[in-house]
Amino acid sequence: MNSSNRDCDALERLRSAIQAAERTAGRMPGCVSLLAVSKGQSAESIAALVACGQRRFAESYLQEALVKQEVLAKMAVNPPLEWHFIGPIQSNKTRKIAETFDWVHSVDRLKIAERLNEQRPESRGVLRVFIEVNVDNSVSKSGVAPEAAAALIAACQALPRLCVVGLMAIPAPGQVDGFARLAALNAQLLAPLPMLSMGMSADFPAAIAAGSTHVRIGTALFGARRVQVPRSPQTH
Ligand SMILES: *Cc1c(COP(=O)(O)O)cnc(C)c1O
Repeated sequence: MNSSNRDCDALERLRSAIQAAERTAGRMPGCVSLLAVSKGQSAESIAALVACGQRRFAESYLQEALVKQEVLAKMAVNPPLEWHFIGPIQSNKTRKIAETFDWVHSVDRLKIAERLNEQRPESRGVLRVFIEVNVDNSVSKSGVAPEAAAALIAACQALPRLCVVGLMAIPAPGQVDGFARLAALNAQLLAPLPMLSMGMSADFPAAIAAGSTHVRIGTALFGARRVQVPRSPQTH
């Protein structure tokens, strides 16, 4: 590890903060995985973090991610990079997502899950998915309604190329009780799922206290997003 590298300092600080939150919450040390949210960041910034040892990266916009994945693939690092898709999914994007990502955190309807299952190449093994839940029950946001989550999980568990690993939520800013609501929803399932994807730069200690296993952190790691995030038109 190159400790004179500014990017490594930010990563080390964040890892320490995650460890501190694990300790405070009485959680097992190392039980929370850090996903570096690299949307709006350049391939060079990602490469700098890779050089510091970070392997798990998360992207929200497919076109932007594909360009950077291609650049980063040339680094051929070992162990390899792990790519997590965390953005809203339009049905015309599922094929590429199934082909190029290892995990998807934003499955919120069966049609998308079915397409990912059909389009997942056999050679890539199972696609790990989180079911996104709208814990605030707001009309405008993505995520399945809490009362419909159990049925969606069961339907997704019948799809052989998907492995449903857990639940994901993006509570409204400042609404940290959304984390406890997601954990409670999971605990009430007949068979609770092993993982919870929750917590971002501003609220990850609260998410860890509520049981998060995967925190998704961008700005606290990279600083402000530099690249203008492209928005493709809605197609359905
Ligand atoms: C952008 C984003 C993040 C990271 O947000 P930061 O505040 O930069 O840490 C996490 N999760 C999702 C779904 C995002 O879109």
